[in-house]
Amino acid sequence: MDDKCIFCRIADAKLPAHKLIEDDLVLAFLDLHPIREGHALIIPKQHYPWFEDLPDLTAARMMAVGQQLARAMKREWGVERVSFFYTGIHVPHTHAHVVPMSHRHDVTSARYLEDGFEEFSLPPSPGGAALTHTAGRIRARLAEAC
Ligand SMILES: [Zn+2]
Repeated sequence: MDDKCIFCRIADAKLPAHKLIEDDLVLAFLDLHPIREGHALIIPKQHYPWFEDLPDLTAARMMAVGQQLARAMKREWGVERVSFFYTGIHVPHTHAHVVPMSHRHDVTSARYLEDGFEEFSLPPSPGGAALTHTAGRIRARLAEAC
């Protein structure tokens, strides 16, 4: 618990939220600034700044709650897809966004919009050699003790 952290205060019921699902590990509630109606956040009850810091059980619970919300959102809004993502922006307490997608670019990176809002642009491929190099860089980091 971090008294200065707004999500810790919500998890500890010291601030109000429009709660959707709550258990001993996680809490899901509505985002106050939704991309689309129903946009929810899932947070761990404990303070972890980054999603990669989550214990395996909490990480799995975050995903399971996201799946549960996605099924409900599809039924309620009749959308084809619901996105689930972490950005680590705004509040330094891990939070997953769950957004019912009415438009395919509701959560798109600007990198995919170079051909306009109704298109889906593919950024240029760096090519096989560059991808091989990049994969090697990540594999080398994965091989390090964490
Ligand atoms: Zn926190």
